[in-house]
Order: sequence, then C-alpha cells, then structure tokens
Amino acid sequence: MSNVIAYCEVKDGNLAGISTETLSEARKIADKAGSKVVAALLGDAVSAVAKQCGEAGADKVVICQDSDLKKFHDEIHCQVLKDIAESESAGFIMGSATFYGKALFGRLAASMGTGLIPDATNIEFDGDNIAIEHPGYGGNIIMKLGFNTDKPKVITLRPKAFAPQEGLSREAETVDFPFDSTKYQAKAKVTEMVDEGSGQVALTEADIIVSGGRGIKEADNYKLIEELAAQLGAAAGASRAIVDAGWVPYKHQVGQTGKTVNPKLYIAAGISGAIQHLAGMQSSKYIVAINKDPDAPIFKLATWGIVGNALEVLPALTKRLEQEN
Ligand SMILES: Cc1cc2nc3c(=O)[nH]c(=O)nc-3n(C[C@H](O)[C@H](O)[C@H](O)COP(=O)(O)OP(=O)(O)OC[C@H]3O[C@@H](n4cnc5c(N)ncnc54)[C@H](O)[C@@H]3O)c2cc1C
Repeated sequence: MSNVIAYCEVKDGNLAGISTETLSEARKIADKAGSKVVAALLGDAVSAVAKQCGEAGADKVVICQDSDLKKFHDEIHCQVLKDIAESESAGFIMGSATFYGKALFGRLAASMGTGLIPDATNIEFDGDNIAIEHPGYGGNIIMKLGFNTDKPKVITLRPKAFAPQEGLSREAETVDFPFDSTKYQAKAKVTEMVDEGSGQVALTEADIIVSGGRGIKEADNYKLIEELAAQLGAAAGASRAIVDAGWVPYKHQVGQTGKTVNPKLYIAAGISGAIQHLAGMQSSKYIVAINKDPDAPIFKLATWGIVGNALEVLPALTKRLEQEN
C-alpha cells in the first residue's frame, strides 16, 4: 500500500496553518486510495507538534529532529524527506507552495526522478485518476494536470487555496527518524535565517491584505498602508514598483516575482494592475481597488472600486475603522 506523505511546517512552535491544508488534502487522497496519511516533521524540537498533526488528519507522524535541522536547508531537508518517503512507501508526497516548499519540492522531485505538480489550487478525482488544477502563464489559464508515472507523485498546494476539512482529528502513531549528520551533507551552508518580523501578519497566511503601489507617491506614505492594515488585522503588501524604488523591503512584494497570496480581502491602493502583480493576487476572494484613474486595469478585476486619491481614501478608511473598533 502506498501512503500519502505530508511535509508539515512548524511556525512559532505550532503546526503552520498552511500545513493543516496539506494534511486535509492528503487525507482526501489517502481515503480515496485506502491508504494512510504520514506527516513528516523535520526540525529542531518539533515533537510537540506531532499531536497537532493527528488533530489535522495524520494517521502517523515521522519525526526527524536535530539541531542541524533548525535552519531550513533545502539540500538537507530534501535528503531526509526522500528517505522518509522511501521508508514510508510514499505514493504521494505533498507540501505547501511556500518559499520553503518551492525550494524543497522541485529538488525532491528531481532527486527521485519523478514528476511535480506545483501550486495546485484544486484536487479532484476522475475515476481513480487524480486531476489537479494549476494556474499557468501568470494565472491566465487554469491547467488540469495528472501524473504519468509509477513513482511517488509530488504535489505542492497554493497556500490558502484549500479550506481544511472539519472532523479529521485522530490519535496519530509517532515514530522517530534518526538524523545521520555523516549521511546528510550539503554543498551550501546556511549562515543566517532572518525573521520576517515577529508580530507582523505573514502575507501568505493573511486573510486580509492591504497593498500599496507607486500611487502612494513616496516611501513615507507607506505608513498609511500599515495603519489601515493594523486596523484590519491585515498584512501589508506592495507592488514591485515600490520595492524596486526601495520604499519597502522585498518581503512585502506581491506578484509573479514576489509572493502569491490568496486572502479573503485584498485592498490595492495606487496599484495599476499590471499582469505581473495580478499573477500574485488575482485569486483573492474580494478585491478592492483604490486608484485615481478610472481606467486603471485593476478595476477590471476588482469586486469594488474607489476612484480617488489613495492618500485621502486610506486615512479616511483607517479613521472610520478606529471609530468602529
Ligand atoms: C519579469 C517581471 C516581473 C515582475 N514581477 C512583478 C511582481 O512580482 N509584482 C509586481 O507588482 N510587479 C511586478 N512587475 C512589474 C509590473 O510590470 C509593474 O511595473 C508594477 O506592478 C507596477 O507597479 P504599480 O502598479 O505600483 O505602479 P504603476 O504601474 O506606476 O501604477 C501606479 C498606479 O497608481 C495610480 N495612482 C497615481 N497616483 C495615485 C493616487 N494619488 N491615488 C490613487 N492612485 C494613484 C495610477 O493611476 C496608477 O494606476 C514585474 C515586471 C516584470 C517585467
């Protein structure tokens, strides 16, 4: 019997929200195949998270923990995950298309000589065959893809594209997987991991995002984005134009060469709606555009549009929310 391996990420000592999505989709595939969901937990002191993996749908949790795994390293994590997958008779190996997942799963699929379907936004079955939707060409088309291999099939899920199912909780069996530092070696060395900023809402996990573009005019005005985001409990995003201008760090960039986000509400202020920006946010459930140009392309995609000066509209919204809160 081939099992479904779910690579689980840990955030602030807990199972990352996006990994509950991975486990839930892994559960659907395993139930269809009559197999097991095996969560793979890699890191330093991650065993406390095993119970949460069971609560999110894992039958078994394989824990590989070592201080050498504290910093994510795609070469090392890939080698360990490959060995876990082989020892657990993987039929599918799944994870989230986070920055970590993107670094890990391409390498994993190549090292196993198998296929990868990245950034899935829907998984269905066509009889016994799996049919996976994947946005292609900057999100302009949705491809329906399947596998043509007997080897383990590798899938990454677009964060927040899947709602975790309820009622999957179970008591998972836990197994330790020894970390062999003489075997797991890398050519590159990770010298530092820089935290994106504790206390800030992560873009890829946010339900609400307020993003600013060149229409906010100058770096100092980004505080208007941050103030509205703070009132909404939202993450603050940006177009590439203002990242390239040095107004905000790259970690805020949404789009083809930035982050792909999938919030319930995306507020785009002073952003024209270039295709490369849309590629990262067009699957947001509701989009509000604030732009002084009524013909700006962003209005074609927006659920609601405000034609106006972002430097006036943003503080007005913030003020109104302050009164409500
Ligand atoms: C290979 C490649 C990859 C790229 N990747 C990305 C990416 O990942 N993310 C990304 O965002 N871009 C990306 N780009 C750049 C992209 O093509 C656009 O240049 C960029 O998105 C434009 O940013 P903007 O909308 O902030 O600026 P602009 O296009 O200059 O738009 C500014 C908007 O603000 C409006 N405006 C002006 N003043 C005000 C005001 N006071 N109030 C309200 N509205 C106002 C204007 O009407 C205009 O619509 C990429 C480009 C390439 C070639």
